[in-house]
Amino acid sequence: MDVEQFRQAGYAAIDRICDYYISLDAKPVSSSVQPGYLAPLLPTAPPDEGEDFATIAADYDRLIQPGLTHWQHPSFFAYFPTSSSFEGILGDLYATAVPNPGFNWSCSPACTELEAIVMDWSAQLLGLGSAFHNAAGVGGGALQTTASDSALIATVAARERFLAAAPVKLDDLVLYVTTQTHSLGLKAGRVLGLRVRALEVCHEDRYSLRGDVLRQALEEDKAAGRHPFMLIATVGSTSSGAVDNLPEIEAVLKEHTEVWLHVDAAWAGIALCCPEMRTALFLDTINAAADSFCTNFHKWGLVNFDASTLWVRDRKSLTSALDITPPFLRTAHGDAGTVTDYRNWHLALGRRFRALKVWFVLRGFGVEGFRKHIRQGIALNAMFGALLKESDILALITPPWLALTVFRLAPPHLGLDAAALNQLNAAFFARLAVRPDLAITQTVLNGVFCVRFAVGAARTTEAHVRAAFDAIVEEARAALVLWESIA
Ligand SMILES: *Cc1c(COP(=O)(O)O)cnc(C)c1O
Repeated sequence: MDVEQFRQAGYAAIDRICDYYISLDAKPVSSSVQPGYLAPLLPTAPPDEGEDFATIAADYDRLIQPGLTHWQHPSFFAYFPTSSSFEGILGDLYATAVPNPGFNWSCSPACTELEAIVMDWSAQLLGLGSAFHNAAGVGGGALQTTASDSALIATVAARERFLAAAPVKLDDLVLYVTTQTHSLGLKAGRVLGLRVRALEVCHEDRYSLRGDVLRQALEEDKAAGRHPFMLIATVGSTSSGAVDNLPEIEAVLKEHTEVWLHVDAAWAGIALCCPEMRTALFLDTINAAADSFCTNFHKWGLVNFDASTLWVRDRKSLTSALDITPPFLRTAHGDAGTVTDYRNWHLALGRRFRALKVWFVLRGFGVEGFRKHIRQGIALNAMFGALLKESDILALITPPWLALTVFRLAPPHLGLDAAALNQLNAAFFARLAVRPDLAITQTVLNGVFCVRFAVGAARTTEAHVRAAFDAIVEEARAALVLWESIA
């Protein structure tokens, strides 16, 4: 492809992307292909001779599109939102046009400097205090691929800090998570060969970690000669949106200052942009006590995947754990300490120029535009929760919170026991799962099978939420009729 052919194919690609978004609402949300659909449709080897791009692009439409689940569809209520904004798309387009491994300041000064600046902008957007700002030179933030990577990096830093102060046996270290922590905690433990302890949380506390549970675990482990060195707390758990009780955790950790507090707010953290949400999300405690904090702009935060933001209170904790500088990576600026070398803030050497899309999005929307998007998700979820409260057969499991509602089918007139209710709900969910007009996912909370409704796609309106509610009621009724006919 030469530059003029690229110009043409590029214009056509933008047209196709526009058409995709214009027609998105009319598409089924989920793909209906069966496993293995693609291989029979493609040759078993790459072509010997190069092909014309128009043919390749047509095959994308014909073969790839049908296998896509449309995460940006306005009726996508599964898992969590995955953002796409036109500013974000353009940011990635510009970034990929100047591929750059960006590992050192010298690789391309703009990559490092823009990242440091947009991380400070983002910190301000969310209300994170100056301790986390790059400009202050002590703490700081960097863009990562995912919250899982962010947690892994934080765990490496926490372990390094602990071992530097107390060189104990690795086998005696313990990483704390809760039974509701995302699998990133167990994964970090497995990757690093660390013992992980999942602390119990209960329904009465809305699945939030309480201070007394943490205190008791710390006392038990220390009495047994083990060394808890880190707690991964969650602000907005994946299953139910649970927020660990950070003020109680802070009070306990004041007596155990060697324990690193990482706050995983992958999905919900973005809501800190709204001042009215900051108390409920414990911003003050995050600012006072978190050693590291992560949220994903690529979930609810308008930036296209991937853009996970990780801040640390002490950047040296990262660099002393991750800085390995062979001679060929040394630079005069790096040696002088006058620049940030982001290769020491994550696992890989090279890193994509993600700052560009974050910059485009923050400028394109502005703080107020950003807040408007988050408030719209919260309002739509509240509307869904209100519809649900009026239902005589559906029941909330936890109060509607942020942009997530967890509920189940609970017909009072049938007097079902816990096991039967779970069975009925599994049958109800199976009906929802095959509907082409919406996507929704299930979860199990301490043995209770529930359905999750997660709002946050930029194009979702009240009409989409109402239609989804009607579809849910329809399937609930159908599941009940079937149940009663069998029983
Ligand atoms: C989505 C989510 C994660 C995982 O996110 P990745 O960026 O894909 O690793 C972790 N924690 C919470 C609370 C989440 O909602």
